[in-house]
Amino acid sequence: MKLRNKINLYTAVLFSILLLIMNLSIYILFSNLILQSETKTVKEETEKIAAVFNQLTNMTEERDFLRAYVPIDGMIRIVNPALKSISVTSPTEKELSEKKDRYFSGEVSERMIINNRTYAFASMPIILPGGDVANLQITKSIETAIGNLKILRIVLITVTLLALIPVFISSRILSNLLIKPVTSMIKTMIEIKQSGQFKRLSLDKKSKDELHEMGETFNHMIDLLETNFEKQKQFVSNASHELKTPLTVIESYASLLKRRGLQEPELFAESIEAIHSEAIRMRELTEQLLLLAKHNEQWNLHISKVNLNEFIKQTLHAFQSAYNRKITYNTEIKGAFELKTDEQKLKQLIYIFLDNARKYSDKEITVLTRIKDNQAVIQIIDQGIGIHKDELPKVFDRFYRVDKARNRKSGGSGLGLSLAKELAEVLGVKVALDSKEGIGTTVKLYLKY
Ligand code: ADP
Repeated sequence: MKLRNKINLYTAVLFSILLLIMNLSIYILFSNLILQSETKTVKEETEKIAAVFNQLTNMTEERDFLRAYVPIDGMIRIVNPALKSISVTSPTEKELSEKKDRYFSGEVSERMIINNRTYAFASMPIILPGGDVANLQITKSIETAIGNLKILRIVLITVTLLALIPVFISSRILSNLLIKPVTSMIKTMIEIKQSGQFKRLSLDKKSKDELHEMGETFNHMIDLLETNFEKQKQFVSNASHELKTPLTVIESYASLLKRRGLQEPELFAESIEAIHSEAIRMRELTEQLLLLAKHNEQWNLHISKVNLNEFIKQTLHAFQSAYNRKITYNTEIKGAFELKTDEQKLKQLIYIFLDNARKYSDKEITVLTRIKDNQAVIQIIDQGIGIHKDELPKVFDRFYRVDKARNRKSGGSGLGLSLAKELAEVLGVKVALDSKEGIGTTVKLYLKY
């Protein structure tokens, strides 16, 4: 069922039930009140007449007495268990006289139905002038009250039905109000699906309700999706472009080998070397791509206590042995200084900067650690080619390389710093890059402890 119909149905059913309960309670309350009051009136009347009767000392003609008190639409009767009962009926209620008489030992007041008509009945014990105990009984029609109740019933049913009309109208207006933005959202979504383009909802500026908020969130989500989509597109085209070059190199060397490799041993060695180095580059590139494709939540941090000085010394030692480059380590931190971090990932982060310092400088690399403003600072300083100030903001972008030709020779893919940026984000490390072209680059890593 459509949401609009659901809202209509539920509101209508709910309001109908509510109105029904309300009007039913009103009817029951009123009918009880009216019928009780009718019965009470008959009872009081009977009591009054019985009191008059009890004061009589002699009575010649009982029937005449009763005639004086007969109700307009009913019957008055004296039921004497010893003798025959005497009853007088009003001209409209002649059939009542056919009703069988009943003797009661106490007071009785009730409602009864005779010949499909409702009556109030009261019976009082009386003492006849002769000393016999009898019943004075009055039966009075309450059809007028019943008729009034019937009218009340019709009025209440009509009111219920009439009240449902505005309920229906307002539920329709309400459902329209709620559904309009939703249907427009669905329409936009279908358009997006069909056209493959990112579209936004046109929002009413005046309203600031939840639906407007939902529309804004939807538009914001589309913005995000579009930027992500653009990034992905860029990334895929960059990645395929980056992989194309080594593949072409491998392909051309392989075909060269196929043609003349066996005859020319020099060419053989050169080709194998080129294929090998390109294969390594491709492996590194795909490894970095895979790391970058990971979402922040998938990084799985393993936090442990790390002694900063020891950690830096080990890292530098491993790096120096692998690349045979001299790195000077200076520290202002005295004693064992510990901080909580993911050791492997921090090492990976430092390696990226050390690797860049190695690739883009020939002179000595210096690493410096110190504590400043409640933060541990690791500085990686090189005296290499540096980066022009216009290029500085771009170097963290994926696949960005300042000098493409030169970097290819040094084996750079342009992914190192973007990976460093992600790693730093995951570790909560702030990175500052300071560089002057021709003088050198200083990387500062700020670690909270
Ligand atoms: P790559 O793999 O090419 O080194 P990076 O993302 O690590 O990619 O660096 C992006 C670019 O920034 C590099 O191509 C290089 O031009 C420049 N760069 C990075 N670090 C340094 C540095 N220490 N000295 C000079 N240039 C650097």
